[in-house]
Amino acid sequence: MIPAPFQYYAPKTVNEAIGLLQQHGDDAKLLAGGHSLLPALKLRLAQPAVLIDISRVSELKGITANGDRLVIGAGATYHEIATSEAVRSGCPVLAECVGQIGDIQVRNRGTIGGSLAHADPAADLPAVALALGMTINVMGANGARSITADDMFVAMLTTALSSDEVITSVTVPILGKGEGAAYAKLRHPASRYAIVGVAAYVKLDGDTVSACRIGVTGAGSVAVRQPAAEAALVGTSGDDDAVAAAANAAGDGVDYLGDIHASAEYRQAMVKVYTRRALTEAVRRARG
Ligand SMILES: Cc1cc2nc3c(=O)[nH]c(=O)nc-3n(C[C@H](O)[C@H](O)[C@H](O)COP(=O)(O)OP(=O)(O)OC[C@H]3O[C@@H](n4cnc5c(N)ncnc54)[C@H](O)[C@@H]3O)c2cc1C
Repeated sequence: MIPAPFQYYAPKTVNEAIGLLQQHGDDAKLLAGGHSLLPALKLRLAQPAVLIDISRVSELKGITANGDRLVIGAGATYHEIATSEAVRSGCPVLAECVGQIGDIQVRNRGTIGGSLAHADPAADLPAVALALGMTINVMGANGARSITADDMFVAMLTTALSSDEVITSVTVPILGKGEGAAYAKLRHPASRYAIVGVAAYVKLDGDTVSACRIGVTGAGSVAVRQPAAEAALVGTSGDDDAVAAAANAAGDGVDYLGDIHASAEYRQAMVKVYTRRALTEAVRRARG
């Protein structure tokens, strides 16, 4: 399939990109790795009159450790994140998550900013963003602001971004002693998208779970936290029974989708199974 005709711009700076977004309004779309947008253009599901290719904007590149945080440029590819020593040592769950996305072509082109902006219901990163409490840093015509992962994912393919905003970077916590996080996914055998994906973060104070965050993707139209399951684990020792009870409480707030790959009922059952797996591994890592 051939996309509908479009005008192409390749700005060198974020400010230039914002200017183009302002100038062309809803007719314009940012292009990063293209691994969600190009298929949509080719299928003519999207027909923007203007494409603003931000893949050469150097401000959007790079991964740096800054105190207890990693700052990852929106244009960092999955491959760059998966192979970054700073990410692998500071926040291994993120490296593991992006290392499981798609295939090598997708990982070489797809970007963290593109995935978070696209908010595909089956994307992996939103679950990990929710579990880690990532911050999404954006710039727009009205300046810079930060959006918490909890506020980012609004509905299917819909985020809290305004149409003139560009994600510039993502702030990710570096996990310390007593903290552990893990991602478990039931992957589509061909595309590797999440049929169900669960990310879990656990913090231990001594032998007691003092904090827990769980993000679920793939199961419904938008990635969501799991407050009931999180609350069920906090205050426990995080042993197998406590993890099983918490996993059993998972699933609230998910508007389960059914398709040719998995029924809504199957996804509902798998959310509990994968929550249990992710929590078990997160607790194991938190124990060190
Ligand atoms: C064969 C195949 C398999 C895949 N498998 C998986 C998988 O297993 N798991 C998974 O999670 N994903 C998967 N994907 C999707 C892939 O992760 C996409 O790359 C990602 O969803 C989009 O990132 P991108 O950089 O390619 O963005 P693009 O496709 O260029 O853009 C996507 C959207 O985000 C917007 N955008 C891009 N960058 C920014 C920015 N900095 N600020 C604001 N808006 C921006 C664009 O305007 C567009 O609307 C797969 C894709 C393919 C083609």
